[in-house]
Amino acid sequence: MPLYEFRCAADCGRFERSFPMADVPRSVSCPGCEGDATRLVSSPRLGHGSSSAMTLLDATKRSAQEPAVVPGPPPRAASGRSPVTNNPLHRRLPRP
Ligand SMILES: [Zn+2]
Repeated sequence: MPLYEFRCAADCGRFERSFPMADVPRSVSCPGCEGDATRLVSSPRLGHGSSSAMTLLDATKRSAQEPAVVPGPPPRAASGRSPVTNNPLHRRLPRP
């Protein structure tokens, strides 16, 4: 079930509740003061979970907005040349 965000009218703040999409109410009772809390206009978190696909999507989105800072380029081989493959099938590939 998706999560929906609500805000208390008595300044208790925001909280989330899970409801089926067909049965989501416009207001619920606040868990802090039992007052009226209205639903906010936000995207329901349909995919909020711990699946590996969601983890990958979150990591991809995070790296687009906050890329990891690296100290420099990746280390080169000791000879200074680019790494050479030892796979015999790669010898058939066309040369530049
Ligand atoms: Zn409240």
